[in-house]
Amino acid sequence: MDLGLKGRKAIVCAASKGLGKGCAMALAQEGVDVVITARHADVLEATADEIRKATGVKVTPVAGDITTPENRAAVLAACPAPDILVNNAGGPPPGNFRDWTREDWIKALDANMLTAIELIKATVDGMIGRKFGRIVNITSSSVKAPIDILGLSNGARSGLTGFVAGVARTTARHGVTINNLLPGPFDTDRLRGTFAVRGKANNRSADEEKKLAAASHPAGRFGTPEEFGAFCAFMCSVHAGYLSGQNILLDGGQYPGTY
Ligand code: NAP
Repeated sequence: MDLGLKGRKAIVCAASKGLGKGCAMALAQEGVDVVITARHADVLEATADEIRKATGVKVTPVAGDITTPENRAAVLAACPAPDILVNNAGGPPPGNFRDWTREDWIKALDANMLTAIELIKATVDGMIGRKFGRIVNITSSSVKAPIDILGLSNGARSGLTGFVAGVARTTARHGVTINNLLPGPFDTDRLRGTFAVRGKANNRSADEEKKLAAASHPAGRFGTPEEFGAFCAFMCSVHAGYLSGQNILLDGGQYPGTY
């Protein structure tokens, strides 16, 4: 299927590794020029090179912390008129809510709610003016089914979800869709970190914890960044113009509810 994206421009945040990288690669494979971000410049440069070599599109790495106004300004300077925005940032650390300070909460809100809102604010009116736009926010399955040790994520991402639910209804008539893509467990560095913490609590190694979790998953495995990226690219495609304001759960059937 031709996704109809050739020649479009995308900003993909937090994309040197994992899910963000999966999205950037999948969009690039469709002929989209991508601006990618991450804090570690060396890893980001290597990823930019990998995507360029694999696809031949223009890849512009902008190193920095996407939760800062300075980095967001640099990203927008590199791509002032994006057709596609994929919002992403590192997830907050797991832990016990009794240990979290106000500062911890502000950091989580900055990374997983306010940064995405700032970037939507900076780009959505241009998309409306050009009559095409796709915004995908990478959130988490924890929005639908909270995970106890990820309370900072459960809370901050729910705030973004509520915001998007309202604004997405105002942009659809202008050809601009805004949706959230909710990953269940995907095999990335982030997931490995979560298993290390959970393993410690259960007196098991991270590897043992991961094997047990994979075995009890309905799919018998975790998702791959490539699967995630392909799905994100479809949500950005010309074929997905009638999808807006939705929370799409991509979890291999892990969510136990009927609806
Ligand atoms: P990952 O493999 O650890 O990759 C995270 C990427 O984000 C890296 O490229 C990292 O590069 C970049 N990054 C992190 N913080 C950043 C910041 N402040 N500014 C710019 N770039 C930043 O993580 P992932 O698994 O892809 O997860 C992506 C998001 O999905 C996270 O919010 C995570 O909580 C969420 N999620 C993941 C899963 C899963 O199973 N993987 C499930 C649910 C939700 P630098 O470190 O160089 O900045």
